[in-house]
Amino acid sequence: MSLTVPRLRAVTTSPIACKICEEPSALYGVIDSNRSCLIGPQTSLSGVPIYYRRCEACGFLFTDAFDDWDINEFKAHIYNDEYIVFDPDYKNARPSGNANVVTGFWSAHKANMRVLDYGGGNDVLCATLRTNGFKEAVTYDPMVPEHSLPPAGKFDLVTCFETLEHLPDPVAGIGKIIEFVADPGAVFYSTLTQPDDFDSQGMSWWYVGPRNGHVSIFTKQALAAAWGKHGFKTASFNAGAHLAFRTLPENWGTVTQ
Ligand SMILES: [Zn+2]
Repeated sequence: MSLTVPRLRAVTTSPIACKICEEPSALYGVIDSNRSCLIGPQTSLSGVPIYYRRCEACGFLFTDAFDDWDINEFKAHIYNDEYIVFDPDYKNARPSGNANVVTGFWSAHKANMRVLDYGGGNDVLCATLRTNGFKEAVTYDPMVPEHSLPPAGKFDLVTCFETLEHLPDPVAGIGKIIEFVADPGAVFYSTLTQPDDFDSQGMSWWYVGPRNGHVSIFTKQALAAAWGKHGFKTASFNAGAHLAFRTLPENWGTVTQ
């Protein structure tokens, strides 16, 4: 089989500016473009190397290999018909589980809440929230035609699960998310931050998966810097679940204590 090489940005050995804090980011490691996040049998290697860089200040790990792609190239090479093979929880398991978490945290306030799910790909999460008694729950995903119409107005809660690690320009991407956040209001989001032993795992850490579209791998410091550029604070429930906000609604005290 011949090798079809997608259009990648040329690699340079000089450090480039961190996409979040602009500090020097040298080449850190390289991984095959077919490497996914699935533990277990891997598909065959593509022969296409994807280089990642790491910021020496905030620890953000990122690739700029896809930064010249338009939306059609992302759909052709990553978010294509085979994507579901590499992210099997995408359709049901993840949105259903996340809906239960959101319902658990916000059940006391649900009757008056407008919720927007950003980047989730389908309406499973919002349909579950509506069934569970939330006043309004709307799906918006610019990458999915049936949910790509931007919603009107601001939302008390924007949920954004497993999306930030897919953003080639995280600061601009966060800017688009917060356009929909009411003030007071918040973004409940997930992305897995680098573990304490990341230096010993390096590019072997399972979450570094270019086939899954994981182009931006955060540290807690990198998350704080990225949200901070928009005047938001971020607090973490654990390594994967976080809440970002300018001002929290006063009556949400029980959510974050
Ligand atoms: Zn940085």
